[in-house]
Parts: sequence; structure tokens; C-alpha cells
Amino acid sequence: MSDKPSNFLATIIEEDLASGKHDQIVTRFPPEPNGYLHIGHAKSICVNFGLAQQFGGECNLRFDDTNPEKEEQEYIDSIKADINWLGFHWKGREKYTSDYFDQLYDWAVHLINNGDAYVCHLNADEAREYRGTLTEPGKNSPYRDRSVEENLDLFTRMKNGEFAEGECVLRAKIDMASPNMNLRDPIIYRIRKKEHHQTGDKWCIYPSYDFAHGQSDALEGITHSICTLEFEDHRPLYDWFIDKLPVPAKPRQYEFARLNVNYTVTSKRKLKRLVDEGIVDGWDDPRMPTISGMRRRGITPRALRNFADMVGTSRAGGVVDLGMLEFAIREDLNENAPRAMAVLDPLKVVFTNLPDDHREVFTAPGHPNRDDLGERELPFTKEIYIDRSDFNEDNTLSRKKFKRLVLGEWVRLRNAYIIHADEVIKDDNGEIVEIRAKVIEGTVGADAPEGVRPRGVIHWVSASEGLPAEVRLYDRLFNHETPDRGGDDFLRHINPESLKVLTGCIVEPSLADAAPESSFQFEREGYFVVDRHETKAGQLVLNKTIGLKEVWAR
Ligand code: ATP
Ligand code: MG
Ligand code: MG
Repeated sequence: MSDKPSNFLATIIEEDLASGKHDQIVTRFPPEPNGYLHIGHAKSICVNFGLAQQFGGECNLRFDDTNPEKEEQEYIDSIKADINWLGFHWKGREKYTSDYFDQLYDWAVHLINNGDAYVCHLNADEAREYRGTLTEPGKNSPYRDRSVEENLDLFTRMKNGEFAEGECVLRAKIDMASPNMNLRDPIIYRIRKKEHHQTGDKWCIYPSYDFAHGQSDALEGITHSICTLEFEDHRPLYDWFIDKLPVPAKPRQYEFARLNVNYTVTSKRKLKRLVDEGIVDGWDDPRMPTISGMRRRGITPRALRNFADMVGTSRAGGVVDLGMLEFAIREDLNENAPRAMAVLDPLKVVFTNLPDDHREVFTAPGHPNRDDLGERELPFTKEIYIDRSDFNEDNTLSRKKFKRLVLGEWVRLRNAYIIHADEVIKDDNGEIVEIRAKVIEGTVGADAPEGVRPRGVIHWVSASEGLPAEVRLYDRLFNHETPDRGGDDFLRHINPESLKVLTGCIVEPSLADAAPESSFQFEREGYFVVDRHETKAGQLVLNKTIGLKEVWAR
């Protein structure tokens, strides 16, 4: 059917289509708009939209907006932008659980009428006590045997705002002794006197996730309701509601293991703390594992989709090594990012054997094996910059270890001349401020002549024509493999060196027209992206996406 990797969900769908159980599948991605999407959501998006694509079905985007306290329009907007950017489209199938509030209310009344739900006045502490524990059965609420009439009256009054928040709830009447805690008379409606971003002040009671989710699936004709394994224990409840209610379809829930990545936290609540406490610079800080953060970091949608495929979809959990994401990022950028030269820590080299106005232009391929990426022009002038770390005065350094420029020796400038370092100029503090050098004539695109022995090849940029840039170097946000294992202690494991800002960098002039969000491989340095928000005319801001090779020691 397609070249997508197969997984147990694809197999189930294949069988359901083959047996005629469904003619077409419909999935949904159901975010709660209470934060920005993160890498785990990216996985879920790839699974839900991906399966729909693979089998010619549809995928709804459903905002699971049943809790007005934590939800905001800003999050709805960011979620839509992130899904589009990942390359998936809901084709007008944008749904809101809040669209079904009237229907859900009627279904709650249906349960009451059938003696399957009751209004309970236990407060939160009492309710916890009555619920029992994993080893102890719960006890029936003293309000459990209220008459249908009394329940109808109380529920109407709940809806009309006659009770305070927390004063009472509507519960399903199932089984307080069930070994499955979710079936111990779960809450289906709560009082929340809070304006809702979609329904305004129309409602002051809101359905629980469990009551809303399956019914919304039924209303939308979802055939395969895919969620993560934490909801496995909720499935009997999901099915209970579907059985008890006159729903138009009978969707089924399937679970797969959440994606967890080491050195990362994937919980909106925790990510929100990083934002609220100013540890990062917003939800889209390039260090964040949010989709918008990864985007700003220069990770491409293709790399993320490849990563989602690579980790697979199964019921076996575990923690994925961040190195796997990094592999997907490098693989993609190596293949697709144009090459350029950038000097992050500039040291000036002046060629004493060139006239002041010397200028010639070399060309270099945009990419070693992508002709479609064209050629770039590299102006070469009397003064250039090289990276400070590419020069050393000490000519006793072994040629094997230091394949760069040494005083009194040669090096090749990438795509240009072999040069010889003659002399260094130092400031009052003894710091080298300039190298005096000579170009070796006839060495552009040609082998070194007899007696000229360059130690290696280094990058460079014309001093007069290079462009100034600010470069932001990022490292992992956490220096611990499982930062949130100790609960909220995760902030202790913040890597204090996760951001380093370099001002005064110089990049080759071909970046003059680089669009925001374009990625480059700066030769010998790594992959960088033009910041989508802070780059302005004349001031490039570049974010380091990732180094050329894995360097993090584990
Ligand atoms: P969080 O705990 O970060 O708030 P959530 O599951 O509560 O996550 P939702 O907005 O409810 O967030 O998630 C929308 C969908 O994304 C759900 O179907 C959920 O199962 C899925 N999802 C969330 N986190 C992950 C993850 N780490 N791996 C795979 N799917 C995930
Ligand atoms: Mg959720
Ligand atoms: Mg949540």
C-alpha cells in the first residue's frame, strides 16, 4: 500500500479495511490547547496523520478543550502552525470538543435517566477516601442512590450555576469495587466558573476527558482512536460510555508507547515551568524540545518525520537516545544544507605580497553533490579572517595533531591559495591581533609546489566583504539523562552552558540574501540556521543546529 514502515497499528487498519469493517479510516490528533506541542506530540501527529495518509483516510485535528482553566487561544494558534510546518494538513477538519458540549450534556442526562449517573456532594478529600486504593475496594458514595428526579434537578442546577466550584460533581455509576480505579464511579462533569476560549460564559460545568473523548470520537466517525499507553486502563471506561449511550458510531481505542527522549523533558507542564520561570527564552527557545523550538533551532520537518519513523510505533516503551534524533538531523542537513564558510572567532590575516586593492573571486559549489544548489562566489582580498583556533605560534606541534596554520609554515585556504604565516602582531597583553602572511602564487586549484607543505585546509572569509553575524551556540538543555526522574527536581539538572552567544562572527557574503530559516553547513563548524525572528537587514543572527559529529561524551 505504501513504503511506510509497518507497525501494529498499520496491521490492524489493513485488516479492518480488508474485512470490510471500515471502508475508510478516520483518525484524529487531539491536543489539549494548554501549551505548545513537543517532540512527543510530533510523534503522535506523524502516527495519526501518517496512518490516514498511508491508507487514504482522513485525520481530524481536534482541540480537546474541556478545561478552560489552562487553555488559551495562543496555544490553539501555535498548535495549528506546528502541524502545518511538520507537513500535515487537516483539510478543514478542525474540530473542538467544545462544539459537542450540548450533545455531551444531553448524553449526561441520558445516563441520569437510565440510573447510570448521579450528582455527588463528597468534597475532594472525602471522594479520595471513598475511592479506596489499588489493594482496597472503594466505598459507595452516600449520594449514590439518589432518585433520577433528584439527580436531574441537581444536574440542571449545576448547569445553571447554582453551586460553587467543587461543591458537587456528576459521576458515572459503575463499580466502586472494580480493580480498575477508572471504573470507580468516575467524574463526568465538574463545575468550573471560568470563561472558555470557545464557548465564553455559556457553560459553568465541563465534561471530563474520559466522558468527552470517546463520545467526540463517535460523533466524528473516528474509526481508530489512537492514544498513548497511559490510557490503556481508561479503555474499559471508554467502551462503557460507548455502550451506554446512543452514539452514532462505535470507535475503538488503541494505545502505543509514548515517546520519551533522554536529556529531555516531554511534559507541557514542565516545559511551561521552564518558560514561566525564565529559564528559557519562551516556548520556541531553540533549546526547547517543543516543535516550535526545534524549528527555530534549525531542525527540519523532514528530520523530525524521519526520526518519528526511525523510533517506530509499538506498545513497548523505553527511552530513545537523543543521539537518534541528532542522527536524523545530521543526515537530513548533510544532504540538503548548502555549504558556506563562517569564522566564529575571527583573527585577521594580512597578505603582504598583495596590493591593498587586491580582489579576485573564487567559486565553490553550493553543495558537494547537489548541482541544484548552484555555486557561490568567494571574494578574496588582501585581508581575510581565519578562526583563532586555526592558528598556533608553536611550530613544534605535531603535524598529525594540528593540521592548521602554524607560524613559519603553510596551510591551504579552502577553495583558494596555500598561504605561509610569516609573523604575528600582538597587543599590549600579548594577544595575537594579526598574522602577516603571503599567498603562494599558482596554488589555487593546484597541488602544492616542491618544498611547500601545508598542514591542512582551513576556512576563511574576506575581511572587507564578509558579513557580520551573531552566532548562538546551543548545547543540551539538561545535563542529566533522565532529568525528570526525581519529580519536579528536574530544574536541578539544567545545563548552565546550554547557550553561548558569539558576537563579531564573520560569514561569507553569499549569505547576504539568506532567508530566515535557511540552513547551512558552515564547513568545519557544523549546521546553522538563520534565526526566523531576530535576523534583520545587516544583522544576521544564526543558531547552531548541531555539530558535524557527535561530541557529547556519555
Ligand atoms: P503532556 O503531558 O505533555 O501535556 P498530553 O498527552 O497531556 O501531554 P495532549 O495535548 O493531551 O498532551 O496530547 C495530544 C496527543 O498527543 C495525545 O493523543 C497524546 O497521547 C499524544 N502525546 C502526548 N505526548 C506524547 C508522547 N510523548 N509520545 C507520543 N504521543 C504523545
Ligand atoms: Mg491529554
Ligand atoms: Mg497533559
